[in-house]
Amino acid sequence: MGRMGHMGNGEALLRSSGSTCIVVLNNKCNLHCRYCPLIKGQKEIRFDLAASGLRFLLNNNPGTSLLKFSGGEPLLSFSLLKRLVAYGRRRARVLGRSLEFEVTTNGTLMERRHFGYFQKSPDIKLRLSLDGDRETQLINRRSVRDRHDSFEAIYSKRRQWVRLPNLCVNMVIHPNVVHKMARNFLFLLRSGFTVFNFLPAFFIPWNAASVRRLRQQFKDVAFFLKHSPLKNKITIQNRDAWEPDPLFNSGLVIDCNGDVFANNAFLARGYSRLREELRMGRVEELALPGRGRPPRPGHISRLIARHTPAPVLSGTRAANRALNEFVGDITRGTDRY
Ligand code: SF4
Repeated sequence: MGRMGHMGNGEALLRSSGSTCIVVLNNKCNLHCRYCPLIKGQKEIRFDLAASGLRFLLNNNPGTSLLKFSGGEPLLSFSLLKRLVAYGRRRARVLGRSLEFEVTTNGTLMERRHFGYFQKSPDIKLRLSLDGDRETQLINRRSVRDRHDSFEAIYSKRRQWVRLPNLCVNMVIHPNVVHKMARNFLFLLRSGFTVFNFLPAFFIPWNAASVRRLRQQFKDVAFFLKHSPLKNKITIQNRDAWEPDPLFNSGLVIDCNGDVFANNAFLARGYSRLREELRMGRVEELALPGRGRPPRPGHISRLIARHTPAPVLSGTRAANRALNEFVGDITRGTDRY
């Protein structure tokens, strides 16, 4: 029996994980965004659980090249995040491999010490969720604290933000602000941001008129990208972030309680009752033979589709098609983006 033959659940996970591992650091957040699909709580992953999953993956899957940290809000677990990045760097060095990191943050908790850390860490892509101007941001990204302004908390520090070496702005587009998406893009560009990822809000119904508006806005942005003198200074990262199923991100996912999944669909409120069916095992079991459940190709997509209300599923697919057309449009005939 070869080495992989002893792995049981771990073998199946390695086959399904591709190049990406997602560690859910916590399920806490200081915002309650209108479109947030997450089930929130007060949990944080234990260092030893996350580290044992990473060790297993890096030792056994030479293809692992990207380690993403998500939440909740990762900066609420900043010390843990730093320890895990240091651990990942160390393991990758020992194995002679290259490993990159990604952290998605709502940006409202960034202070001098966070800026200092990310400034010195170009191997960490920091994804800042910022949807546009003040009015746009405040419609959907509301704070759990009264009178806390999620726009001002970020925008007042924009000079520090734009100096970070590996920053990308995630612009979430909800149907209630879709009509000003192109204006919001220009606003952020004028504010000094140059790297963008567009994310139509999923898990919500998009009606036909909103999808039409989304298409038109994407066309306007594409026109700008092709003709503006600034075009060579702007990066749109959607092409690299492409996912075969828009409802979830694939990869090996370690939840903050140590459960392991083949994608992050389980995090969304609408699918909480599917958690047991989606769960593939525990992080402590990865190296044990015959434990856990291997993912069946296509099964998860079908399961999720069956448990998604029809208007949400068709709306999400339509919004995702508009995004894909946009990416096709801006990448046609160019190596850029
Ligand atoms: S910042 Fe992210 S995790 Fe927090 S409420 Fe908003 S969408 Fe949800």
